[in-house]
Parts: sequence; structure tokens; C-alpha cells
Amino acid sequence: MATINDNYLKLKAGYLFPEIGRRVSAFAEANPDAPIIKLGIGDVTEPLPEACRSAMVTAVEDMGNRDSFKGYGPEQGYGWLREKIAAHDFQARGCDVDAGEIFISDGSKCDCGNILDIFGDNNTIAVTDPVYPVYVDTNVMAGHTGPCNDQGEYEGLTYLPINAGNNFTAQIPSQKVDLIYLCFPNNPTGAVASKSHLQDWVNYAKSHGSIILFDAAYEAFITDPEIPHSIYEIEGARDCAIEFRSFSKNAGFTGTRCALTVVPKTLMAKAADESDVELWKLWNRRQSTKFNGVSYIVQRGAEAVYSEAGQEQTKGLISFYLENAKIIREKLTAAGLQVFGGVNAPYVWVQTPNGISSWDFFDQLLNKTNVVGTPGSGFGAAGEGYFRISAFNSRANVEEAMRRITANL
Ligand SMILES: *Cc1c(COP(=O)(O)O)cnc(C)c1O
Repeated sequence: MATINDNYLKLKAGYLFPEIGRRVSAFAEANPDAPIIKLGIGDVTEPLPEACRSAMVTAVEDMGNRDSFKGYGPEQGYGWLREKIAAHDFQARGCDVDAGEIFISDGSKCDCGNILDIFGDNNTIAVTDPVYPVYVDTNVMAGHTGPCNDQGEYEGLTYLPINAGNNFTAQIPSQKVDLIYLCFPNNPTGAVASKSHLQDWVNYAKSHGSIILFDAAYEAFITDPEIPHSIYEIEGARDCAIEFRSFSKNAGFTGTRCALTVVPKTLMAKAADESDVELWKLWNRRQSTKFNGVSYIVQRGAEAVYSEAGQEQTKGLISFYLENAKIIREKLTAAGLQVFGGVNAPYVWVQTPNGISSWDFFDQLLNKTNVVGTPGSGFGAAGEGYFRISAFNSRANVEEAMRRITANL
């Protein structure tokens, strides 16, 4: 009989969001009239910007004419989109990133997982704790870890706790790690990394020959001008970092699907024979072999983010969500809770009251207020005692949820 990839059996049963789904369904079944408000899952709620929609409508029409019809596009993405990204997102911030180093994809989640294809199996891996579960689970699937303990920690991974005690900064490890996942602004804590903190990481990576996998999915939510939007704002990052970006959170593309990964041509890693190999070449080969590009229509939609109207409309979306975050922060603080994040990120990270567990707080909130959030422990052992509230919702829902929490908690 055929065999399976046994590493999948190591994955912790009941991945976070399915477990939330189960508890919410059970509650809704027992309380069919309960007006449940979901501030749990990190998905956007507001419609796609008009600029993106009309660009996609035009692109659909292009597909209807023999002269402008497009078949397969470049696996790396269309040049016109990569040029706009390079100029606007990187060069305008002083980052030395060329369009040729940008790979368009159908999502950062996929890219964060797929990137492991080009790395060896014996790398040591560091993740923050709490963490976006994708980084951990894809390494488990690839056989880079041992089994999981009761706290949800996998043997073989280096966990870097980020919590109120260290002001949500990941401490540089004393030992050598080869791959380091950093996500700032952070999901789930809403924390940001200062320029000097990122410089410390780049210096560490350069001196140890490590690679930083930098997830900048929430860069558009940065309001503080001192906070870097890209790892390439840091001196030396071209020699030690890959950056992931997505149109999901800045332009509402979670259902439309478009993202990008930057692999600088100067970035090297070691082959088994000790020679240095350009990672760009491997990623280019990987994408050309296993991926056939993002739909022309969607890439035209993403391109429109960089038009004048697109910029104005995406800025409007981001300020809308950030205003939600501000309301959440203020109301929860007034309700006596200690809150973090929510200033440069669409997530508010709440300390559970009286030291109760994350899941107990989840159940309490659901039962008393019919509001759904995300238990911090679902993002890692160090998330225990915390709770994530997402600002991705309508203003009316956010205000109503906060009214209930203020009145009932
Ligand atoms: C939402 C999110 C992404 C974006 O993923 P897509 O697949 O592009 O939708 C990436 N990283 C983190 C941490 C996220 O929360």
C-alpha cells in the first residue's frame, strides 16, 4: 500500500480556527437567537477598492478580444506590476530592490510555506512565540521538527517568546539558528519592530550566515514614521533576508488573491559541497516549475492599488480598520483590561483578566457577550493568558461588541 508523509501526523489536532468554529457552532445551536459578533479570524470585511474593481473589469474585457487576450503570463508576474511595486513599495523608501527580484504569487501564506522547498532539511529554525501558525506547521509537514508537547511546542524549533515582559521584542538567540521567521507588524500581538531591533537581527543573521524570512503582510498599517515598513530599510538586509508581502490586508485581496515575495539576487546560502548558491535562482526555478502565475485580471487589480485613486482608497480602508482598533483599545482599557497592539496593526492583544486561561476567556466572552475572539494560546505556548481581537469588521459590529463587553465583563 502507498504510504503517507508521516510528518502530518505530528500536527497538533484541532488547528485553532476549526476549534473556534466548533465552539461557536455549538454555542449558536444551543442559543439560536444569540447575536454573535465575530472578531476572531483575521479576514477583512470591507469591499474591494473601486480602483481595483474597475481595473479588473477592464482586464476581463481585455480577455474578450483576440488582440489583448492573455494566455499564460510570466511565472514571476507581469513586469508592469513588478515595476510599480519596486518603485512604490521599496525604492521610494530607499530600499535597493529591483523589479527582477520581486515574484508575484497568489498569496503570502503559500509563499511562506513554499519557500521551504529551496532550503535544506537540516536548518535550525526560530519562530516567535506566539506566532502565525503557518510558519510552524509548514516546517512540521516538511519533517523539520520532532513531536509536539502538551503546550503545543514542537521539539527542535527554537521559540522566541514575545510578551509584555520583553515589550514584545524577540530576543536575539545566544545559539546559532539558520532560518528566522519574523512578522512585523505582528500577527497576533500587533507589536512592531523598531529599526534598531531589526538592525540587531540583520547583524545576527549576517554574522551567523542565517536567513531572515520577514513577513510584512501588515506594513500598510504602520502609522509611526520611525517604524520600518520593509526589512530592506535595514543596512545589510539584502544579504540575509527574504520579504513576504500581500495585497490581502492593505487592499482587501484575501478572496481575490495576490501577494509577492522579494528574493534579492545578492542572497546566498550553502550547498552540500560548501559552495555558495544564489537563492534567487532556486526560487525562480521553483516558481517556474511548480507555479504558473497569478491571473492577469487579478494582477491588473493589484496594479490599480498604485494608481492615485487606488492609493487614496486603500489608505481609506486602512484608516477605517485602524479607527476600529482604536475604539477596541479604548473601550477595553476602560473596561479594565490591559491591551497591547492596535496602533500600527489591525490586532489588539488583550491580557486575560485575573490570569484566566485564553480558552476560558474565549468561552466567557462568547457566553456573556456573544463576541468571538481568538485565544492567544492557539498561536503558541507564550500566547497563553492573552487574547486577540481583530479590527477587521464593520464599525457597527465593533461598537456593539465593545458596548457588550463594557456592560458585561
Ligand atoms: C493575512 C496574513 C498573510 C497574508 O496571507 P495571504 O495568503 O497573502 O492572504 C500573511 N502573513 C500573515 C502573518 C497574515 O496574517
